[in-house]
Amino acid sequence: MNAPPAAARYDCIVIGAGHNGLVCATRLAQAGRKVLVLEAAAQVGGAAVTREFHPGFRVSAGAHLLHLMSAELIREFKLSAHGLRYSGTQLPTTALLPGGGTLAIGAGMQGADAVAYAAYETRMRRFGAALGPVLAGVAPRLGTDRWADKLALLSLGWRIRRLGRKDMRELLRIGGMNVYDLLQEHFSSAVLQGALGLDAVLGSNFGPRSPGSVLTLLYRLAGESAARANGLAQPQGGMGALCDALAAAARAAGVTIRTDAPVARILVANDCASGVALQSGEQFAAGIVISNADPKTTFLQLLGARYLDNGFVRRVNHLRGKGLTAKLHLALAEAPRFAGVAAERIGGRLLIAPSLEHIEHAYNHAKYGEYSIEPVIEITVPTHNDQGLAPAGQHVLSAIVQYAPYALKGGWAGQRQAFSDLCVATLERYAPGIAKSILGCELLTPVDIEAKFRISGGHWHHADLALDQFLMVRPVPGATQHRTPLAGLYLCGAGCHPGGGVMGTAGGNAASQVLKQARAYG
Ligand SMILES: Cc1cc2nc3c(=O)[nH]c(=O)nc-3n(C[C@H](O)[C@H](O)[C@H](O)COP(=O)(O)OP(=O)(O)OC[C@H]3O[C@@H](n4cnc5c(N)ncnc54)[C@H](O)[C@@H]3O)c2cc1C
Repeated sequence: MNAPPAAARYDCIVIGAGHNGLVCATRLAQAGRKVLVLEAAAQVGGAAVTREFHPGFRVSAGAHLLHLMSAELIREFKLSAHGLRYSGTQLPTTALLPGGGTLAIGAGMQGADAVAYAAYETRMRRFGAALGPVLAGVAPRLGTDRWADKLALLSLGWRIRRLGRKDMRELLRIGGMNVYDLLQEHFSSAVLQGALGLDAVLGSNFGPRSPGSVLTLLYRLAGESAARANGLAQPQGGMGALCDALAAAARAAGVTIRTDAPVARILVANDCASGVALQSGEQFAAGIVISNADPKTTFLQLLGARYLDNGFVRRVNHLRGKGLTAKLHLALAEAPRFAGVAAERIGGRLLIAPSLEHIEHAYNHAKYGEYSIEPVIEITVPTHNDQGLAPAGQHVLSAIVQYAPYALKGGWAGQRQAFSDLCVATLERYAPGIAKSILGCELLTPVDIEAKFRISGGHWHHADLALDQFLMVRPVPGATQHRTPLAGLYLCGAGCHPGGGVMGTAGGNAASQVLKQARAYG
């Protein structure tokens, strides 16, 4: 009888070709490792992908705005040589008011709020810059004797101290506040408060009054500061074009990428990761396995509780990560006309979040397992800047809608259409006539996001960003700094520090941890 074929052998296997998996794989290959990326889906990119949702109409199906990926990484990976182009950068934000009014956020604002906004923006950006390096690096652990941890903590303290006494005190004061109270202190305009408050709660399990909602705002600002990039941007061809460029960079560095290759199991030998088995039964061997899948999928499905101690399994089970964000895609026969929005701003970001109370009411529903009756919405019309996404003269609308809880009372199957209709009715109030120009409509609830992107809970960040799941305890104690309780198994996705958003930081830092560990063991 013939012996079964030996499993193909690599130095490192990355499970998942989300943008973080691709960044991780490229860095490892650049350091001379033989790397295989196995992606379950037919295309790379994970939740940063461009898909056809109606014949002839394509959209960034998950993330739709690029603002967190560092300019340095984009340069270093030569993404423009690998095909990355932008259809828009420094996109403006416009808040929409019921009844047709608008407020252009930032340049062009007038009156007392303009003065208050300039002061607020300058100060918050300073805070973001002070915290940016914490987001960009591996989160230090507390209470260890390692110099790297001590230095990282010291340098964080130093950066905060360098803000000066007044700003340092202010940062420490607001850090634990909710964004509702913070914005009340600064502004009288309800619509400005709403627009700025939305940034704190997008993708999170927070309303503006939730404790910790300033933290998520600082997270966004720190990420943008660390990125030093193009403001809010759209890659030409959608977010998938960014990931295609990342995949090209990975291949150029020598990475092998296989799509349509769902991993069923992480293999273990002698208490170490030893490779993976695909659902097809095919096996690959490697001393290092790095998972871009979310922590619950990685530990509970791909590895299995039997390799982990009970306390750790309990912590993973308790990790909160049920998404509340839905995505709405419309194929439109003509350009949408938002009342009062100047033509040059239609290609930017349009917000329906007319006050903090409005957002809080929307969130209240989600607390009780209901969808919002008056949802808050972040709208882009990518075809305004990138006609290639739709047939000539026709348009795509891409909207992030909150709140749409994963665990909807009664389930999504019988309520998806009602919520989709409600979202369209909401849009119709701000863009009269839009409903009758709809040729096709797709709503992705967190349950759909879970199924399509293989993110358990369908969560933007793979796991809630909250104080107890942040920094040195993200995702859970025992699996921080990209390491896991199993030797040779690492994490590189949004479930790690710093969290989600199309940033690439978790992927890059995971690779440096793998390489550091390899050096430590010679
Ligand atoms: C609706 C929505 C809107 C968003 N909007 C924005 C935005 O505008 N801007 C922004 O910056 N961020 C946004 N985000 C967040 C951002 O998309 C994610 O945080 C980011 O894409 C996570 O990247 P990742 O590489 O860590 O993981 P993912 O993108 O989730 O990639 C993980 C990959 O692993 C693969 N995988 C999982 N299990 C297996 C397996 N068993 N075998 C093989 N492969 C597997 C998956 O198929 C996937 O390709 C949004 C998220 C959502 C859900």
